[in-house]
This record gives sequence, C-alpha cells and structure tokens, in this order.
Amino acid sequence: MASNGYRNGTGTNKGAIKPPASSNIRSSSFKSRLPPSSNHSPGSALRRTSSASFTTAAGGDGVPGRVRVAVRLRPRNAEESTADADFADCVELQPELKRLKLRKNNWESETYEFDEVLTEFASQKRVYEVVAKPVVESVLDGYNGTVMAYGQTGTGKTFTLGRLGEEDTSARGIMVRSMEEILVNVSRETDSISVSYLQLYMETIQDLLDPANDNISIVEDPRTGDVSLPGATHVEIKDEQSFLELLRLGEAHRIAANTKLNTESSRSHAILMVHVKRSVLGEEVAIPTESDKSSHFVKPPKPLVRKSKLVLVDLAGSERVQKSGSEGHMLEEAKSINLSLSALGKCINALAENSAHVPIRDSKLTRLLRDSFGGTARTSLIVTIGPSPRHRGETASTILFGQRAMKVENMLRIKEEFDYKSLARRLEIQLDKLIAENERQQKAFDDEVERINLEAQNRVSEVERNFTDALEKERLKCQMEYMESVKKLEEKMIENQQKHQHDGFMKDKCNGEGPGFCEDIAVIKKLLEKETHMRKEAEKEVNKLKSQLGQHMDAGAGGDAEILKLQIALEDEVHQKKKLEEEIIILRSQMLQLTFEADQMRRCLARGGSGNAYPGLDSPMSQVRDSLSGHKTPVSALFDQVGVEKILDLLESEDANVRIHAVKVVANLAAEEANQERIVEAGGLTSLLMLLRSYEDETVRRVAAGAIANLAMNEANQELIMVQGGISLLSTTASDAEDPQTLRMVAGAIANLCGNDKLQATLRSEGGIKALLGMVRCRHPDVLSQVARGIANFAKCESRASTNGIRSGRSLLIDEGALPWIVQSANNDAAPIRRHIELALCHLAQHEANAKDMINGGALWELVRITRDCSREDIRSLARRTLNSSLLFRSEMRRLRIEL
Ligand code: ADP
Ligand code: MG
Repeated sequence: MASNGYRNGTGTNKGAIKPPASSNIRSSSFKSRLPPSSNHSPGSALRRTSSASFTTAAGGDGVPGRVRVAVRLRPRNAEESTADADFADCVELQPELKRLKLRKNNWESETYEFDEVLTEFASQKRVYEVVAKPVVESVLDGYNGTVMAYGQTGTGKTFTLGRLGEEDTSARGIMVRSMEEILVNVSRETDSISVSYLQLYMETIQDLLDPANDNISIVEDPRTGDVSLPGATHVEIKDEQSFLELLRLGEAHRIAANTKLNTESSRSHAILMVHVKRSVLGEEVAIPTESDKSSHFVKPPKPLVRKSKLVLVDLAGSERVQKSGSEGHMLEEAKSINLSLSALGKCINALAENSAHVPIRDSKLTRLLRDSFGGTARTSLIVTIGPSPRHRGETASTILFGQRAMKVENMLRIKEEFDYKSLARRLEIQLDKLIAENERQQKAFDDEVERINLEAQNRVSEVERNFTDALEKERLKCQMEYMESVKKLEEKMIENQQKHQHDGFMKDKCNGEGPGFCEDIAVIKKLLEKETHMRKEAEKEVNKLKSQLGQHMDAGAGGDAEILKLQIALEDEVHQKKKLEEEIIILRSQMLQLTFEADQMRRCLARGGSGNAYPGLDSPMSQVRDSLSGHKTPVSALFDQVGVEKILDLLESEDANVRIHAVKVVANLAAEEANQERIVEAGGLTSLLMLLRSYEDETVRRVAAGAIANLAMNEANQELIMVQGGISLLSTTASDAEDPQTLRMVAGAIANLCGNDKLQATLRSEGGIKALLGMVRCRHPDVLSQVARGIANFAKCESRASTNGIRSGRSLLIDEGALPWIVQSANNDAAPIRRHIELALCHLAQHEANAKDMINGGALWELVRITRDCSREDIRSLARRTLNSSLLFRSEMRRLRIEL
C-alpha cells in the first residue's frame, strides 16, 4: 500500500478540502482550558461576530471558544480484515502532525488537519482526556459543555461515548469517565448533579429513564434563550454506581423501544444530559466611599449558583444523510430520521460560513443543540471513521462534517446567577437567630427591670419603715422628756409654793421671776455659804494648829508623839477640805446647769416656742442682745462664782454624768461672746476638741461640736482650732456622725472656718471642703443651710483673694467637685440655702478661671436665672454685673442668644 505524500495546497491536490483557518487551528491546543473568570482567549481563534439566531452568547462578557474536533479511526473488524485483506485502509493517520490523509486512489490523497487525530490504537482513557476532559472541566467551572460523536454506523460512536466497561474498566467510555470526574470534584453538601437520558427518533423525544414519557417538548427561555426539557425525568446522581445503573436502564429501554418501534438504535440519537449545580461565593467587592476615595468599604461575598449542563450526544449514523440524499429516497421515515442530522449539517455549514441565517429551528436536534454550536457552550466533536475503503465516500463526508464543525466559533459564557434562594435561606436563618437573640435579650432586660423594681420597692419600704420607726421613737422620747420636765417643774412649783408660804422673805427677793428656781438657788446658796463658812472655820483651825505646832517646835520640847498626832489630824483636815471642795464644785456645776435649764425654760415659756439647747448657732442676735444689755445671765453669774478652770476640770471627770453636765455648761457659756475669751484662755477649746476626739457618746459630741461652732465665730479662735488640728477632727466627725443635730453643729463650725481667708488652703488639705460637701447626705435643711453658708463663705474668701491677686486659678470648690451640688441647690426651696448658693455662684463667677467649668456644669443658666428671679435686688444686680464682666460668659450668652 503506497502512501501518498502530503500534497494539500500543492498543484496536484486540486479540489482537496483545505484545513480550515489552518494557522489559527495549528496554534491552539485541543486541551486548552479556560479559567472560569479569565478573559484570555484560547489560542487566537477569532471571535464570531455573526448575529445569527443560533448564537445565544451574544453578551459581551463571553470568551471565544471554537468547536474542537477530533477524528478517531476504528480498527478493522473481523469482517473487514477478511474482506478488505488485499486493500489498504482508505485513510492514513499522522497523529503527531494531527493530520489525516484520505486516499482518493493509489496515488492521490487529501490531507486534513484536526485538533486531534486518534488512531485505532488510541486508548479509551486517552480519548477521554483529549476530547472530553477539557469540556467536563469547563462544566465544573460553570460553563455548558457538549461532547458529540458523529460518524457512520459501526464506526465506534457508542464505543467511544457509551461503553460501560463493566468487565474491563479500561474500556469505559466518555459518559462514565465524565461522571467519574464530576463526582470527584463536586461537594456533596453544596452541589448537586442530576441526569436525564433521552432518545430522539423521528423528531420525537422519548425519555429513556421513563419510556412511557415519549413525547417530550423542548422549552426555550425567551429571556436567556436557554433550552430545557421540563418533561424529562431528572435523576439525582450520588455515586458512580447509581449512574451506571441508570445508563444500563437507559440502554435497556432504548433497545426495548427500538424493538417496539421496529427501528434500530443507529437511527436514533441518544442524548445524555448532566445538570451540575454548584454553589460558590462571589468575590468580595471593594467600593470606594464617597467621602474618602482611599478608604474602601468591603461588601461580603455574594452567594452565587452555577448551573451548567454537560450534553453527551451519540448521534444516529451519518450514512443516512447521504443515502437519503444521494439515492433520492423520499420515504417519510427516512426524511424524519435524517431531518435532525441534515439540519445539524446545515446549521454547521451556515455557522462555518458565517452565514446570516442559521436554520436552527428546522429540527429538534438543532434546537436542543443551539447552545453547543455557535452558543455559549464549550463543544468537542469526535468524528468516528472506519478504515474500510468500501465506505470511503461516507468516511469522506464524515471528515468534511468535522472540518466544517471546526470553523464554528462559540462564545463561552459562565452560567452563573445570583443565588437568591441560598441568600434568602441564609438571611432567614440569620434573621431567626437575631429574632431569638433579641427575644432572649428582651426577656433578660424585662427580668432585670422587674428585679430592680422589686428591689427598689423593698428598699423604699424598708427605708419608710425605718424612718417611721425612728420618728415614732423620737416622738416617744420627746414626749417622755417633755412629760418628765413638766412633772419636775410641777413638783418644784408645788415645793416652792409650800416654801413660799413658810418664807415670805424669799418671795420678795426673787422679784416674781421664776420663783421656784430662785428659791432653789437661794437654798443652794445658803448651803454654799454654810460650807464656805465651815471651810473658813476649818482653815482657821488648821492655822491655829500650825501656830501651835510652831510654838511646840520652837520650844524644842520633845513632844514627838503630840506632833505626830497633830500631823495626822492635819492631814485629815486637808483631806476633808479637799473632799468638801470637790463637793462644792459638783454642787455648783449642778446648780449652774439647773439654773441654765430654768433660764431656758423661762425664756421658752415666755416666747411660747420650743426650747433650743444651744442658742449660739441659731440666734446669735439673742446672745448679742443679752450681752449688750449689760445684764449677766444667771449662768454667767454663776460661772463667775465657780471659776472656769473648775468647770473645765469637770470635762475630764470620770463620771459620765458629770462630764455631760459640764460640757453642756461650757457650751452654754460659749454661746455668749463675753465668755468665749475666758473659756479659750483657760484651755476650753483644747478640752472641747479632746472631747470630740475621745468620746463616742453622741450627746457629748453634739454638745462639744456646738460649743466649738460657737467659739469658731471668733477669728482668733478659728486659727487656734486649725493649729490644734480641729479641722481634720471636725472633718472626721462630719463623716462619722449620723445625728442631724451633730452634723448641723459640725457644718456650722466648718462654715465659720470657711469665712477665714487664712484657712482656705488648710481647709482643703485637711478635708474640710470634702467633709462639708459630704454632709449633704443628711438632707436635713438645717445641715444643708450650714453647708451652703460654708460654701458661700469659702467662695467669698477665694473671690477676695483672687481680686487682691493673692491667688489665681480655678476655685478649690470646683476642684473638690462642689459645682454639681451648688448648681442643683441653686433652686432649693429653702430661702437661706438658696440665698447662700446664689451668693456662692456670684463669687465663683467673678473669676474667669472658673467660667469654663461653670458653663459646662450648667451654672451659667442658674446665674441667668438669678439675674431674673432672685428676690433680692442686690444679688440680682451682683449676678448681672458678674456675668457682664466675664468675656467667656458673655460669649457663651451670645452663642445661646441670652440677653440679660
Ligand atoms: P456505532 O455506534 O458508531 O454504530 P459501535 O460503537 O456500535 O458503532 O461500534 C461498532 C463495533 O465496532 C462494535 O462492536 C465495537 O465494539 C467496535 N468498535 C468500535 N470502535 C472500536 C475501537 N476503537 N476499538 C475496538 N473496537 C471498536
Ligand atoms: Mg451506536
């Protein structure tokens, strides 16, 4: 068998079919595979620009992908081996050059180039890899794909595509191998594969998985042009075994159907459709924000679904086309059988020639394959030929079909769409989670609110209960005390009346003022006089004894025993004297207290109001009046008689009762300005501070604090208090004490100290300001009033110091955090508190260093309010003046459009 040289393109080869667009085809690899989102074109194949209706991928985002064509030669079969033994094959293959020579005769041949030339020795594996694998990979990437076998009956189309290879796995055809590859690559969780298997015979589509379903119609999506067969059975594929069973079932149905219809399988087209659905996440998209071009807002990847389709077509034998045409058979059956195949040929011709009209609608096959040729699918065609020279004509026409198909250019486009379902599902899950979370939180919140409410209610009722109890106790105590006092007074009155009846003289002396007490005093005075007299007598006696002793000693007489006796007697006398003196002091202090109480009661009865133990704080005027009137109060008078030192001594008495009496007396004395100097000189202040420091008895502390408060009205005493550590002592007492009256005394004392220019720094460093502010915890108006007075005093001193240039910077009051309370109390209902606070605000506002804090703390509004609402004209104008003289306040008022 002579072999002809490659003469294609030479003069001797006229009429030979030239390889299509040879330069282009040569340079492109059959195996070239597109990355799904890559824009690079496989090879340099031209992009088809035809607007033919056969092309559905007219969108601008596809990539060109020419139909790839391989030719496969079947080995001689037994019959050919015998019958054609003397003849050479009609073709000669040059696989390495990807060329095929078709012998015309012994000396002439035509050469054709294909994308792949597969010899009779080519394994099924190799055929799969070069023909189908790139298509399957594209399908996995989301493109549609088609693998189609075309050729004369008996050339190996079914062998190539449909062999199951049950006995010999190496014999497995493209269908099984494709499914194998797909199954390996998809995810069972997110992806799905389903299959339909159909037969097209005489323009009727029959379901090979459900043969009763024998007239399936083709539906085209008018929007996308996608073709589908909704009537066909779709079977989900989970593994290779189920797929093999399905193919077997299909094949059995195909044989049965063809027997029934009296046809052969070679006259029908078998179409296997594999639907691959894969979930993928789109790329994250960075979107530049409007405000800042450099910063990017990254949108989360969107869920996408890729629905691609692999169509494997085992066409009817191609000889029919020729025979029906060439032999002029016009039988209906032949026409119908071949309608699809000839229509496919026409369409491919039209596409190959870039013709304006592609007769896609002429047959069901062309309609089904509209995406495979000139569409968006990646398509591989395998043309099968036999070696027999007897079928040279059919082999030539098959080769010609393949050559034309190679010219068809598809525009590959990914079958990807936004996965609304999955997104909706995901959002639904997310929403449900959020709803559940929200509900949980709401419940927790409600529970918490309920718990807090309950707790608050419990606390309120507990406080109310305690308060009521305390009030009740206090009321009972007061009632008892009152009753007792009344009882005592009544008793004394009766006693006095009785005495009065017996002693008219005393009545005259008392001059109608508190007769009972005067008598009492008179009695005690008498007692005193008597005791004084006794003491004088005793002293006389002592002196006498002393002189006698001297005489004895002078005389040198040895009367030692006598002396001893006398000494003992003397000591006895001295002891006696001391005891008497002590008794006198106690009696005097009792008398003093009694006198004072009587005095108080008298005043109280005269006023008709309630008694107040320590007039110093609340009625300074009254004491001034008393002292100015020149009449010494009975207390003072007795105080003169007893002597301050003696009373102060009693402050340290072991006897608690005596101590309380004594401190009360000292406090009362301290309420009178005239006594203060003497008390301090005698060390009274030190003793009072000592009491505050050492005794926990509430009464002692309260009374001592009251006394100190009174002494603290005097500037000299204020410094003395500071020197003796009184400020920190008062501060400690302020934080320890609970009793409002004690707090009132302490607050009064500190308030007095606050008015001293020299004490400002110490007041702060020793906690005086903090203590003052701390006492507002006790809401008693008297305490609050003292605190407000202290703050006003302090602010005034600071203001004075700032004006004189002695100090600068922000107020220590602001430093110590007083501003919120000041602002809050500026509207207090109690006039004294309000007045002090208004003054404090005016003082603070006079210094620019405080302005910013005051504005931020809301003090400006209060000042503005003062200029409008304050009942006192002087404060109103002070506030106005202050605001007008501050730059910062002025500008803030301008900003807030406030006009004074
Ligand atoms: P078609 O489907 O094109 O009509 P078949 O696939 O049925 O042809 O093949 C016809 C016969 O040739 C079968 O017996 C098949 O086993 C055999 N055959 C086809 N191709 C080959 C090949 N490449 N190697 C060996 N035997 C083949
Ligand atoms: Mg077949």
